[in-house]
Amino acid sequence: PSARAYRVRVSPVGDGQFLIVFNDVSGLHRIDQMRTDFVANASHELRTPLASLRGFIETLQGPARADPKAQERFLGIMLDQVNRMSRLVDDLLSLSRLELKSHIAPGERVDLVPVLSHVRDSLMPLGESLGVTISLSVPDGPVIVPGDRDELVQVFENLVENACKYGQEGKSVAVELSSLAGGGAEVSVTDHGPGIEAEHVPRLTERFYRVNVEASRSKKGTGLGLAIVKHILTRHRARLLIQSEPGKGSRFTVRF
Ligand code: ADP
Repeated sequence: PSARAYRVRVSPVGDGQFLIVFNDVSGLHRIDQMRTDFVANASHELRTPLASLRGFIETLQGPARADPKAQERFLGIMLDQVNRMSRLVDDLLSLSRLELKSHIAPGERVDLVPVLSHVRDSLMPLGESLGVTISLSVPDGPVIVPGDRDELVQVFENLVENACKYGQEGKSVAVELSSLAGGGAEVSVTDHGPGIEAEHVPRLTERFYRVNVEASRSKKGTGLGLAIVKHILTRHRARLLIQSEPGKGSRFTVRF
């Protein structure tokens, strides 16, 4: 289904003969198209809260000028919109920073045990606010992988946050770390939420891909979380496996 694109060069080689060279530039075209789509999506995501802010400012300057109750409510909604734009800009910046250093392998030796404890502690308040408990199971002793600590914190924060946000019907999220025989390590994040239909699974790490846009927005999603996860893991030469069964839940596994 994907059309191919070629650059054609014709050079005379004498005796009325010509050399015709076809260069397959489909890959470059695809990258151009992806870039254009990305800018269009990012602009759209920023324009929506901006349009809403403009509407509220006009209302505050006009009809709601003398209505303190309406003013308070509108200011609350405006703050939500500003927070949404900040999250989006933060995620866009993270992605562009990661792209700049995608070819450099991270150099630290990171113990995953304190990384995961930190992630559990920092997401405990979100879990509590959603009525979700986060359990953590780790082996005795350190589990060291080559990596960048802050980036790995971001990976597991994104996965655990998603599990809490989208898996909340099941009310529990399990984070499990294990060392693999023959070296390496594995971290899985399991929820018992609604799960994801198989057709969506391969596309989840695309930028701005969301199974249900409105649900994701209402859960404060930007659609960039798993794209960031994928970028960081590629740089770490680690793999993300997504298993999900609709109605039963999802498991996101990172294999180092
Ligand atoms: P968002 O910021 O929208 O959460 P992500 O890139 O983190 O974006 O995730 C992309 C989409 O994948 C989400 O919008 C959601 O539809 C789906 N998703 C991610 N994690 C889960 C999960 N644990 N359970 C169900 N759906 C999920």
